[in-house]
Amino acid sequence: MLQFIKNELAKFNIELVSSLSLEECKITRPYLLERCGIESGSAIIFTVPYLTSVSAGERNISSYSVSRDYHFFFANLFDTLIPILKEMYPNNKFAGFTDHSPIDEIHASAISGLGVIGKNHLLITEKYSSYIFIGEILTDAILPSSAGEIKECVNCGKCLLACPVSMEIGRCLSALTQKKGELTDSEKEAIKSHNCAWGCDRCQECCPYTVKAKANGTIYSKIAFFNEALTPTLTSELVENMSDEEFKHRAYSWRGKKTVLRNLEILEGKEK
Ligand code: SF4
Ligand code: SF4
Repeated sequence: MLQFIKNELAKFNIELVSSLSLEECKITRPYLLERCGIESGSAIIFTVPYLTSVSAGERNISSYSVSRDYHFFFANLFDTLIPILKEMYPNNKFAGFTDHSPIDEIHASAISGLGVIGKNHLLITEKYSSYIFIGEILTDAILPSSAGEIKECVNCGKCLLACPVSMEIGRCLSALTQKKGELTDSEKEAIKSHNCAWGCDRCQECCPYTVKAKANGTIYSKIAFFNEALTPTLTSELVENMSDEEFKHRAYSWRGKKTVLRNLEILEGKEK
């Protein structure tokens, strides 16, 4: 079954796949397990590379949000794959998750050998560095486990040095761009001086794993979804004119137009 699932994932250009028993995972949302009726069994964990060739200088948003919202990619993936698995293995249950998952995805990925845990708290893979989304298929079937030791990054400290704001405002710029409501003057200044309308990638860009994966040419996503409908630079005019349907497909839509527009107005010097 594991090889079958790996073959199916490969059709989506998903190459880094491993598995664990559910007992080896950290269960963080048990109600999601109850909901899918899987009490024990296995988790097939995989990473989905998303980085496009748009460079840092060509965008004012985090690279993960340049493409359409990755939740739509996963929804299509699971809507395609889960029925195939149910038909192939009618005596087993299957459920797909990303992000809002019953398990701690970074822990599961690291313990199953997909990558190391970085000082920046991200999962870092050799092939794609940290420019990945993590997904998993849970099943009540018992599959071989690749559990091992959790490894950490080389701890070079470059991400801490590259972080533009921790010393200034004591808060990640990425979280700051998601904060609702009025910002303080120093928070506004941080957004403006670092040209961040949504998110920040500096601690990923400087990481030696990223530098190596770029040099090796492995870092970029070959998945069509992440290379289409790119919107690397936002302006308030562009966002205001997005239809509800267009806006809904962007990764920042969950926060609403108001927060994104506030950040853009700060960048454009238009704030009231
Ligand atoms: S995302 Fe940016 S602001 Fe946040 S920790 Fe990384 S470098 Fe610092
Ligand atoms: S920049 Fe260095 S310390 Fe930071 S995550 Fe990468 S390897 Fe680890």
